[in-house]
Amino acid sequence: MKKIIVAIDGLSSCGKSTMAKELAKNVGYVYVDTGAMYRAVSLYCIRQGWMTADSINETELEKHIGSINISFKTTPDGRQETYLNGENVEREIRTLEVANGASRVSTIGFVRRELVRQQQRMGLEKGIVMDGRDIGTVVFPEAELKVFVTASADVRAQRRYDELVTKGQAEDFEAVLANVKERDERDTNRVESPLKQAHDALLIDNSKLTKAEQRDLLRKWFDEKTTV
Ligand code: C5P
Repeated sequence: MKKIIVAIDGLSSCGKSTMAKELAKNVGYVYVDTGAMYRAVSLYCIRQGWMTADSINETELEKHIGSINISFKTTPDGRQETYLNGENVEREIRTLEVANGASRVSTIGFVRRELVRQQQRMGLEKGIVMDGRDIGTVVFPEAELKVFVTASADVRAQRRYDELVTKGQAEDFEAVLANVKERDERDTNRVESPLKQAHDALLIDNSKLTKAEQRDLLRKWFDEKTTV
């Protein structure tokens, strides 16, 4: 069977990582969550004191960007965990504060260039499912299968809220909704690689799709691309 690159893009909390992970597991591909990489850079900046409410110390960040080493490991039960310079930061990077910082650092050109370079290296041998905002447009414009996922802001905020509650990181629903909308605004309007649907991406609006319907649709598209 032909090995391909699957690029899945979409707004935050639209369920792209769930579908990307599931597809990767079912077809034996590597899964890469690029949002986790921007989150790791955000966490690094917060810890260094380089990120305040209204500014980021870009001079320091640029000096050290080459020494921010991000990697992934899969746990025995199949979950992927993110490592920042050898430390497991999977839990820390999932907070609203870090998410918000991620959408801020992701507007910086040199941050994007460095992470895109690392992502392209991960895809050299294909057999990869990568999700993010610019995978089909910038990281792998030649990807054989591109999917663009959308859902309404309310549906996405509710999912994110439920996820945080399950993890014991309860937040106020209105705060989660505001965070989703703020990130949408920044992701779609930034100058550097704004989120947009690639001209050849297939669209899934999952506001009204069940997880199973979404999974089956993605698998059908994957099978069509890999069996020639
Ligand atoms: O997908 P996730 O919500 O984890 O991503 C965190 C932030 O990282 C997003 O809000 C977005 O601003 C940024 N991001 C990006 N490009 C990607 C993946 C994520 O700009 N490929």
